[in-house]
Amino acid sequence: MMQIETTPEMVSKVYAKLEENIAKYRKIVNRPLTLTEKILVGHLDDIASAKDLEPGKSYSFLRPDRVALQDVTGQMVILQFMQSGLKRTMLPTTVHCDHLIRAKVSGDVDIKVALDENSEVYKFLESSSRKYGLGFWKPGAGIIHQVVLENYAFPGGLMIGTDSHTPNAGGLGMLAVGVGGLDATEVMAGFPWELLYPKRIGIHLKGELNGWVAPKDVILYVAWKLTVSGGTNAIVEYFGPGTKSISCTGKATITNMGAEIGATCSVFPYDDKMDVYLRSTNRGPIADLANKHRDLLVADPEVEKNPEKYFDKVIEIDLSTLEPYIAGPHTPDLARPISHLAEDVKNSKYLDTISVALIGSCTNSSYEDMTRAASVAEQAKLHGIHIKIPLLVTPGSEQIRATIERDGQMHTLNDIGATVLANACGPCIGQWNRPEIKPGEPSTIVTSFNRNFPGRNDGRRETMAFMGSPELIVALALGGRLSFNPLKDTLIGSDGKEFKLEPPKKAPEVPSKGFSNIGSIYVPPAANPDEVEVIINPTSGRLQKLEPFQKWDGKDFVELPLLLKAKGKCTTDHISPAGAWLSLRGHIDKISDNVFLGAVNAFTNDIGKGKNQLNGNTESFPVIARQYKQNSLKWIVIGDNNYGEGSSREHAAMSPRYLGCAAVIARSFARIHETNLKKQGVLALTFANSSDYDKVQESDKISVLGLSNMQPGQNIKCILHHKDGTKDEIALKHSYNDSQIKWFKAGSALNILREKEAQ
Ligand code: SF4
Repeated sequence: MMQIETTPEMVSKVYAKLEENIAKYRKIVNRPLTLTEKILVGHLDDIASAKDLEPGKSYSFLRPDRVALQDVTGQMVILQFMQSGLKRTMLPTTVHCDHLIRAKVSGDVDIKVALDENSEVYKFLESSSRKYGLGFWKPGAGIIHQVVLENYAFPGGLMIGTDSHTPNAGGLGMLAVGVGGLDATEVMAGFPWELLYPKRIGIHLKGELNGWVAPKDVILYVAWKLTVSGGTNAIVEYFGPGTKSISCTGKATITNMGAEIGATCSVFPYDDKMDVYLRSTNRGPIADLANKHRDLLVADPEVEKNPEKYFDKVIEIDLSTLEPYIAGPHTPDLARPISHLAEDVKNSKYLDTISVALIGSCTNSSYEDMTRAASVAEQAKLHGIHIKIPLLVTPGSEQIRATIERDGQMHTLNDIGATVLANACGPCIGQWNRPEIKPGEPSTIVTSFNRNFPGRNDGRRETMAFMGSPELIVALALGGRLSFNPLKDTLIGSDGKEFKLEPPKKAPEVPSKGFSNIGSIYVPPAANPDEVEVIINPTSGRLQKLEPFQKWDGKDFVELPLLLKAKGKCTTDHISPAGAWLSLRGHIDKISDNVFLGAVNAFTNDIGKGKNQLNGNTESFPVIARQYKQNSLKWIVIGDNNYGEGSSREHAAMSPRYLGCAAVIARSFARIHETNLKKQGVLALTFANSSDYDKVQESDKISVLGLSNMQPGQNIKCILHHKDGTKDEIALKHSYNDSQIKWFKAGSALNILREKEAQ
């Protein structure tokens, strides 16, 4: 039976390989190494390939230590794994039921409803996990990244996960990368994982956090500085004395949100804070091993002395002078110090009245976070006041929930009026019922979550979400206004007297009494897998067995209609919206009815609709795409900058592919989505000249030529056929290597995997 736990024996083997590979790599490059390089070369499939590694240019083939799947993306991974014909996963893999639980009433009630509503999906995930050797975490056990941090992450390890916030485990010194489902399927099938060898961004932390300033503010500052695409194809490595002052879970908040700058992942060097966290989560022997191999788990000392030499970019942050930040609305890089927010509210006419405040999620629900949030709540309680608006709390895991219930933080939050929701994603991913808001009604919410794209939290584009640390969000819930600055403004106590909130008390990183023991929330793989039947109801409206995509027919794409020219941000939430659609992620046909419903049409500014070239009508994009498919017409999408930013959801590539998308041509791509498109057999191309985006017209037919001679590094010819009979010839770039070109020709990467298994 596959060993799912991260055991000391496993970690020992990983460190032995790191040691061996790092020693060989030192001989090749003959210079000090960053931590990122140590972990990457330590996981190379073939160390001989290390001599060719070029950041941002060459591809590396890596051997991750484990895989994590969540219940939404995991459905498709397992359906794809079933197609591969393999019997067991080849490395430790876990499934976490967190995304499908809707926030409606309170934790207990919502879990019961979720168990009923999603019963067939949970049965499928549990039965397939037991059969194929995966560990299964039941609904209510917690959010994937928190459960991974508590149980599986370890310093120096390499993990992939089908969720874009997988880098959360970087807080425990692990390189943990969010990937598309097919990457996970391949790795589970025993193939190495292919990654564009990343560039390196170094962030030097000095000083110490104090007062209201929290780890969240570090990453909001970094996001503001680097923007949502500033980390693309790079790993962010934190270093310097300031790293030692941040708790392990605080580090995880920072690495979690590295996803918001598009980074491959982020990582902190091993230190005593990680030792403390490992021991408090019953992993003392792993802490002992990490202490013994510290040199493998931190950058070489010369790197810190001369960082510009070893990183492509270096940012310095003095934690002692950092201010609390608030980011939003609509994009995580629109951050400013809280002291500037009131002015922004006035100048930008943001709705000042906050309707709901939310804390927790995978990003900010540690023991330390909840204790600091409770410390603010305690002050309100002492002055006899309640929150002015609803405050919803989503604990990251059952372990956290049970512990803060035992230690009193939850009671304090309840006492000022907070509601504790299930240990699940809920309002972070559109699984949030807000009947009190009318359609089209604007609202302002504040959260300690990690994303604030339009339509994300409550599925409504009009909602403006602002993000900050949990303690700041609790303070804003007490103030009730976005322009309330707890650092300078006052509240009125029940005695009618004004008082100012004090900064939260210094909180323990881990509970002094240890974490609470929790009950049966985990199901191990079956001892007798052959006797386990995977449960899929053949008439299911939620799950559908996959059929392979067709091979490329060897012909150029000639005069294909343009489906959509997207303007501005086109995230995976715009391409394949979440919310109510989450329930259909195991059913490719049904979920494809959501495709591009959030995308902004560059010609009309309409959302989710465009011109049907068959009848000239304005219709929704999925309706048009289905019509093209019925008429055997492939079609093309034009994207703007950083197309596909956001989550790792492969549906944003699979649904277009399923409905006949031949190519996406963008100004630039977000990393995970570009790979997802390639893997699903959709050509992912970029304009050689970015301004050619402007040449694309609404009724264009587009030809992409010379595909049989497609070569790595060589441009591709494209002709835009305009309605008036004129044409524009433009050049397109691509980042395909030889094996990725084979994916395209085979129809998908999975087709290649299946062929190999059949041999
Ligand atoms: Fe869940 Fe939100 Fe975390 Fe994603 S970011 S895992 S949706 S809590």
